[in-house]
Amino acid sequence: LPNIFVKAMPVLQTLENAGFEAYFVGGSVRDVLLHRHVHDVDITTSAYPEEVKQLFDKSIDTGIKHGTVTVLYNNESYEITTFRTESGYQDFRRPDHVTFVQNLDEDLKRRDFTINALAMNTKGEIVDLFNGLDDLEHHIIRAVGDPETRFHEDALRMMRAVRFMSQLEFKLEEKTRQAIKDNHQLLKKISVERIREEFVKMGLGTNSRQAFQVFLDTQLSEDVPDFAGKKELLSIYPKLQFSPTMETNLWALIILLLKMPNERIHGFMRDWKNSNATTEKVERIINLFDLISDHAPSDYELFQAGEETLVNTIDVAHILGQPIASEALIDRYMALPIKQPGELAIDGRFLIQRGMRPGAQLGKTLNWIRAMVVAGELENNQEAIEDYLDNLK
Ligand code: ATP
Ligand code: MG
Repeated sequence: LPNIFVKAMPVLQTLENAGFEAYFVGGSVRDVLLHRHVHDVDITTSAYPEEVKQLFDKSIDTGIKHGTVTVLYNNESYEITTFRTESGYQDFRRPDHVTFVQNLDEDLKRRDFTINALAMNTKGEIVDLFNGLDDLEHHIIRAVGDPETRFHEDALRMMRAVRFMSQLEFKLEEKTRQAIKDNHQLLKKISVERIREEFVKMGLGTNSRQAFQVFLDTQLSEDVPDFAGKKELLSIYPKLQFSPTMETNLWALIILLLKMPNERIHGFMRDWKNSNATTEKVERIINLFDLISDHAPSDYELFQAGEETLVNTIDVAHILGQPIASEALIDRYMALPIKQPGELAIDGRFLIQRGMRPGAQLGKTLNWIRAMVVAGELENNQEAIEDYLDNLK
C-alpha cells in the first residue's frame, strides 16, 4: 500500500475504534488499484460530522452541509464525508438536499462511475457493489445504475466521463456513451466553471485525442461556450501529434483551431470564465505565434515575448505541425544580452538622478536604451550607458 494510505490508516482506525465504519473511497482507491499516483485520499464514514470533529484535535468545516469535515492529522489533511444519499436534482445539477445514511451501500450508489464507487477498509479489503473491479481491469467507464437517470441528476457527469477517458486511457461503455449522446443538451444547465475544470483535465490527459473525439461525436461540444457549430474546425484536434502539456497551451491551441480573430479572444476566454492571468498568457502565445508565422522575429521581439511564452509557443506550433526553427529561436533567445526588463543595468530612477524629468519621454528613453542593449549595440553596464547618453546631447 502506498505511503499516503499508510499515513492515513490511523484516521480510519480512530473512527473504527470509536465504533463507526470508515473507508477510503473514490479516486484514491481507483488510482491505487491502477498503480497510478494517488494525490489525495478521501474517507467516507458512518459518523456524523459533529462526531468526526470530536474525535480529532484539528478539523475544519469545509462542507458541513454536505457532510464533509477536513481533519488535520500528522500534518496531512483528510476530507471525511458522512455516508449520504442525494435527492431532488431539480435542475439537472447538484442535489437539493443530502441525507445522511447509516450504510456504505447507499453512499456508493450515488457515485458517478463504477470505477469511482469502490471503497477500501483498514484491512485493505475492497467493497465493490457495481463490478467496478471488472471495469477497472477492462478499462471501462460505466455509469453506476441507469446512465440516463444519472446524467439527469447531474449533467456534469457527462463531462466527467470524457475527462476520465482522457486521464485514465479508458473506453466508454456503450450505454453510457449513448446516454451522453441522447442527453448532451443537459450540459447547458451546468456552470461554466464546473465544465471548464473537466474540459481542462480532459485536454491535459494522456488520451485527450480519443476523449476529445467522443466529446465531439456525442455533441457535448455543442453545449459549451463558443463551440456550437464549430465541430468541423475542432475535428482537427484528435488528429494532432502531441497532447498539450499546460492549460495555457490548451487554450491557445483551441483558439488557433477555431481560427478566432484576435479581437474575439478576450471574449472567448471570458465566456469560459478564465482568469485574467490565464487570458494574458494565452494572448501572448497567440501574438508570438502570429508573429513567427509572419516573419523571423527580431532579437527585440524575442526579448519582449520572454522565455515562458517562447517555449509555450514552440510547443503549440509543434502540436499543430507548424514547421518552426525552434532550436535556433531558443539559442538566439539564450544568447540575448539581457532576457528580462529587470536585467537592464539602469532604471528610471537612474535617469532621474541624471536630471531627466519623470514622464513619457523618460519611458521612451528607457525603452530605447533597452532596445540598444538587446540588439547588442550598447553594453549593459552603467558607465557604457552614461557615455552613450552623454554623447547623445
Ligand atoms: P481526481 O483524481 O480527479 O480527484 P476523483 O475520482 O477523486 O478524481 P473527485 O472529483 O475528487 O474525483 O470526486 C471524488 C469522488 O466523488 C469520485 O471518485 C466519485 O465517487 C464522487 N463524485 C465526484 N463528483 C461526482 C458527481 N458529479 N456525481 C457523482 N459522484 C461524484
Ligand atoms: Mg479526488
